[in-house]
Amino acid sequence: MAASKSEINGATFRGMGLDDRVLKALAKLGWSSPTLIQEKAIPLALEGKDILARARTGSGKTAAYAIPLVQKILTLKETAREQATRALILVPSRELCSQAFKNIQEISKCCSKEIKCADVSGQVDLSAQRPLLMERPDIVLGTPSRILAHIQAKNLSLQNSLEMLVIDEADLVFSFGHEADMRALLSHFPKIYQAILMSATLSEDVKTLKKLVLHNPITLKLAESQLPEADRLSQYQVRCIEEDKYLLIYTLLKLKLIRGKTIIFVNSIDRCYRLKLYLEQFSVPVCLLNSELPVNSRCHIVNQFNTGLYDIIVASEESSLFDGGKRDEAEERKEKKGKGQKVKQKKDKEYGVSRGIDFQNVSNVINFDFPESVKSYIHRVGRTARGEKMGTALSFVNEQEQDLLDNVEQELIGDDGTPLIKPYQFKMSEIEGFRYRAKDAMRAVTKVAVREARVKEIKQEIFNSKKLKAYFEDNPRDLQLLRHDKILHPAKVHSDLKNVPEYLVPKALRGTIPTTSRRKAPKRAAADGKGVQKRESRVAKMKRKTEEDPLQSFKYKGKN
Ligand code: AMP
Repeated sequence: MAASKSEINGATFRGMGLDDRVLKALAKLGWSSPTLIQEKAIPLALEGKDILARARTGSGKTAAYAIPLVQKILTLKETAREQATRALILVPSRELCSQAFKNIQEISKCCSKEIKCADVSGQVDLSAQRPLLMERPDIVLGTPSRILAHIQAKNLSLQNSLEMLVIDEADLVFSFGHEADMRALLSHFPKIYQAILMSATLSEDVKTLKKLVLHNPITLKLAESQLPEADRLSQYQVRCIEEDKYLLIYTLLKLKLIRGKTIIFVNSIDRCYRLKLYLEQFSVPVCLLNSELPVNSRCHIVNQFNTGLYDIIVASEESSLFDGGKRDEAEERKEKKGKGQKVKQKKDKEYGVSRGIDFQNVSNVINFDFPESVKSYIHRVGRTARGEKMGTALSFVNEQEQDLLDNVEQELIGDDGTPLIKPYQFKMSEIEGFRYRAKDAMRAVTKVAVREARVKEIKQEIFNSKKLKAYFEDNPRDLQLLRHDKILHPAKVHSDLKNVPEYLVPKALRGTIPTTSRRKAPKRAAADGKGVQKRESRVAKMKRKTEEDPLQSFKYKGKN
């Protein structure tokens, strides 16, 4: 495991003078040392400084503000006479709120009696959250719009109690439609409070926010690369025609060249369903994330993915959501004209799957469709190799997407001056045998099938979402039973497509991908004693290699 920069510098959480209860919680999380952003931001925040920090997701930025917040509240409460809401965390979307909330709960786990935290971002009635706020939790989390609504409903008052304000993912606050509410909120804050802005970029929106809420801030532009270093993140690209994307994804998954938790990104909601329906026919279960699904379902899917229930998420990242929803409006107009999908569910402008959401232990990011901007590439790929973990990113690039790849390659250059994204080398001819099956499966994925699946899934998820809200609140154990990767088109699943016949497996992979008999080999070898060492080490080496970077195991020298 690569050492973090702080480990090299020798910075420790203990050296920051944190409360024993906080240190204990961090130890329980297994965090041996602060990340770079934590090393820089925590001491400044504890001193009471206003901070503007540029920190990429995955850098540990949530804890960079959550640790000092918890620490300061613990200190304040030693002398405070009454309970009050002292900290407000504004986050641009409900998903990000619930993620930050989880982080704070983990950090305050060993002082949960002293620190009360409430996430009021949910979609329930304001009045349902009123009792929660009446208890004046120490920390309140929510989207700017939701917090303003609570203040206007007199469920929350911060005028006399607010001491710390955090705005997380600050660069998304305005583009997610919270600008007016954010400005209105300011009149409900006291004159003096400490403020921290966390942002992936220092965009114009962030500069505006900075002027609105920060006083003499210290700006932290950490000398971190935009993505994890090449020793932790391997990046590959495959140039191919559109049809081959489907052939590739099927063979890579079936030949187990993609292993571990994987996020497959596509550029539209329809492509999400197309890919799910296609993979379903090979009995590859996937769950979907897109802006049409209800927020409760989305949070539940991410939680279940993080706990290891699913291996593959197909996520649509509709770029318009990051451009102020321009394409949303265009699509809506189209729908009104009756040309588009007749799907009633509205897209959620706060949905942003490649930003901020903490997908944990993701081994691979696959760009099935190439992202439409460099920024988007970085955000997507940043879903893997998080914290201190290793990860692989593989992008499929068709002819129309070559320019987009060129832009990213120009931006992401290694120390040796060559692009960080390497060609993924293999012979397409080796997987020709799979083409018939792929074509067969593609034929079943008609426009009608996609439309039906989209409507069916949304209906199902709206139903799930209601269940999630009511029943599962009282029965958390049953939550795990609710699955989101069910088959959408059962009639088209052929059992004969489930398995790969031996003759289709490329020669180079026969015996190199672990099979049941292979895995048993060391046991047999152990029985006679001889050759144990040789055999075990070869199998172990192979296993380690594929686990470390499964995509590398399919490296052929080929025409590509
Ligand atoms: P964030 O950038 O806040 O989304 O955090 C990314 C991931 O890093 C989360 O899964 C955290 O649990 C993890 N993390 C945060 N701080 C540390 C640390 N000091 N050591 C190891 N992992 C951490």
